[in-house]
Amino acid sequence: MRTYVDRRYLDERARFALRCCCEDCQHWDGVRQLCSLGFPTAPHRRERHEQEVAEGYILFCKHFELDG
Ligand code: SF4
Repeated sequence: MRTYVDRRYLDERARFALRCCCEDCQHWDGVRQLCSLGFPTAPHRRERHEQEVAEGYILFCKHFELDG
């Protein structure tokens, strides 16, 4: 799901410690560094999300499930 990024999103992501990336997902295989469901991960990795700036966009994975 594509979501456009603005200054408010970036502020709230930091303030509320939003978890939405593969590394936060229960389907993430940290040993093999891949999705255990076989989905492509590049758009959902934390590094990709953190480099986005206001007026850009990020992609949320519809199969994300918070780990723990
Ligand atoms: S289900 Fe989606 S968010 Fe979770 S590890 Fe796989 S690709 Fe990443």
